[in-house]
Amino acid sequence: MEKEKVKALALLSGGLDSTLAVKLILDQGIEVEAINFVTPFCLCKKGGCGAPEVAEKFGIPLKIVSLGGEYLRVIRKPKYGYGRNMNPCIDCRIFMLKKAKKYAKEIGAAFIFTGEVLDERPMSQHLKALHIIEEEAGLKGKILRPLSARLLPKTEAEKKGLVDESKLLDIRGRSRKRQIALAKEFGITDYPCPAGGCLLTYKEFAAKLRDLFRHKKRISLRDVRLLKIGRHFRYGRNKIVVGRNKEENEVLLRLKAQNDYFFEAQGCGSPITLLQGPKTRQAVEQAAKLTAYYSDQKTGNVHVKYGREKLEKNISVDRPSSEEVEQLRIK
Ligand code: SF4
Repeated sequence: MEKEKVKALALLSGGLDSTLAVKLILDQGIEVEAINFVTPFCLCKKGGCGAPEVAEKFGIPLKIVSLGGEYLRVIRKPKYGYGRNMNPCIDCRIFMLKKAKKYAKEIGAAFIFTGEVLDERPMSQHLKALHIIEEEAGLKGKILRPLSARLLPKTEAEKKGLVDESKLLDIRGRSRKRQIALAKEFGITDYPCPAGGCLLTYKEFAAKLRDLFRHKKRISLRDVRLLKIGRHFRYGRNKIVVGRNKEENEVLLRLKAQNDYFFEAQGCGSPITLLQGPKTRQAVEQAAKLTAYYSDQKTGNVHVKYGREKLEKNISVDRPSSEEVEQLRIK
């Protein structure tokens, strides 16, 4: 009698590990569907971080889920704290797996699997963290990690014989040599996000996010988008963002809130600068000085125009010293 086909749900980031995990499970004749989470902190410019290409290559259905405000609340107050920077990896994984659990039920998947590798990532992939994540997500013993399964306690899928244990692997640690060799063996050459991770693991980005959390009770996705571009400065209750190139200047104008002021130096190449917070005389002067500093006029007094809707007000400022600029920089 033909064995009934088992269906499994893959957490597919589009990175090498999850791609290999999908391949290993598909090769067992198991039907695979995938889910991909796009966070506001993803490093890839195109949505899905390569997951759509992987899903297409394997011919499997993919659901892409964009995480928004609910996810930002997790990032702000993670139960299990942050990693080296502002990356709350344990809470992040719990959040995603809870969503995956619901979706697995919807599509009738018998188990969930991931590309996690034991001890590959310091915060979220050591044995204790894997257990916490499973437990908190309500998936104890239910997440198969095909790349490391032989080193981990047996999951339900193995105990029930839904997967062939002999085809599961025992990869451990940070070296990706075995994964790269496997990719070669499987003919997988294109993996756009080799190491995964997200902006929250970057020191400079973490400093900007920390500053935002400190000064703003409610943050929006627009605030996060703004963190990804420009040079960021803090002057008391004011935040000043200076564009670094034409493209960023345009984005800054698009992200400008109704109450923000924008600035531009006159008679020379100039960045666009946004001023958020109370529009005091001193704050306007600081924003104008930063605009002058990054303009093409490198000496003397700089004429800067600014305003809320249009550039209707004028101020003349001296170009500040680099020390003055550094004192205001968020770092
Ligand atoms: S690196 Fe970023 S996306 Fe990955 S688990 Fe950590 S917080 Fe989540």
